[in-house]
Amino acid sequence: MVNRYERALKPVYDDLLNLVEGKDYFVLTTNVDHQFQLAGFDKKRLFYTQGDYGLWQCSEPCHQRTYDNETTVCQMFTEQRDMRVPSELVPPCPVCGRPMAMNLRTDNTFVQDEGWYTAANRYSDFLYQHDGIGLV
Ligand SMILES: [Zn+2]
Repeated sequence: MVNRYERALKPVYDDLLNLVEGKDYFVLTTNVDHQFQLAGFDKKRLFYTQGDYGLWQCSEPCHQRTYDNETTVCQMFTEQRDMRVPSELVPPCPVCGRPMAMNLRTDNTFVQDEGWYTAANRYSDFLYQHDGIGLV
């Protein structure tokens, strides 16, 4: 989880960025670790279709919103023992009190929040401008 906040060791993403720099590009990715963003890719040209390690959502989910988790994840990383995290560090949902979960598309509880739809629309616009094809 904490790799969401650390740069990848290999310069793969830097090389990719050099390739597209100054060009009209869009990255559609199933990666959830934000390496594109950490390498300096324009946030408005990225669409993380499968979620984001950097966000919490309600595990139910009782509402369609996500929350930044950097502080908690860093604390979990510090306090983990044998790859286990103290369960009291998992925050409760602010609406229903159930445990929060990572915003990852593992099943049909995945939350597609406002940011997800914004990125989906940007991707759709990009396709429309270049091919005349939008998302269906
Ligand atoms: Zn909830």
